[in-house]
Amino acid sequence: MSGVRLVLLGRQGAGKGTQAERLSAHYGAPHISTGDMLRAAVAEGTDFGRKAEEIMSRGDLVPDDVIVGVVDERLQKDDVAAGGFLLDGFPRTVAQAEALAELVEPDGLHAVVNIDVPLDEVRARMKARGRADDTDEAIDRRLELYEQETSPLIDFYTERGLMVHVDGLGTMDEVFDRLVAAIDARVAGGAGAQS
Ligand code: AMP
Repeated sequence: MSGVRLVLLGRQGAGKGTQAERLSAHYGAPHISTGDMLRAAVAEGTDFGRKAEEIMSRGDLVPDDVIVGVVDERLQKDDVAAGGFLLDGFPRTVAQAEALAELVEPDGLHAVVNIDVPLDEVRARMKARGRADDTDEAIDRRLELYEQETSPLIDFYTERGLMVHVDGLGTMDEVFDRLVAAIDARVAGGAGAQS
């Protein structure tokens, strides 16, 4: 597998999706957003999409085995073999992170980047953006789940020497430049295995 192999963490509302798009273009690595993939399934109106819609509208998480299956399939596509990947919104639980470690063997990840934005700031940003699945209750539920299920990933990846923190406050360009500098340092430093 060549290209960069990255995971982007960060509370919803941290600007993760926007930065992921820009990083994807910069590194030529496909942006794999599980939220976007689920929303596409909802739009198609498949059985799977209907179930996902119900879960997402509550702000709950889709079961680990289901989302791991979706990501497994996606990582086997040719564009990933050629360009690596930038995962956005996955993993969200330790079980997903363990599954991902197996999926990316033997290459491993270059880095897991957390975009740090304080809780009050993301809450305000999410309430302002007004997406269809962004009711106040769903927002609060998602933020609560992030603290419970996803923030343990920071310890998980710190223990594995993969965790990188980037300050998410500032303009989009400022945050992007910080992300690129942090990622380049990791990729050049040969973090993870060679590509
Ligand atoms: P996002 O766009 O990443 O905020 O995802 C929107 C919603 O999709 C989440 O609130 C979850 O309901 C669901 N979702 C996305 N990614 C995952 C994941 N890795 N595990 C479980 N549920 C997910």
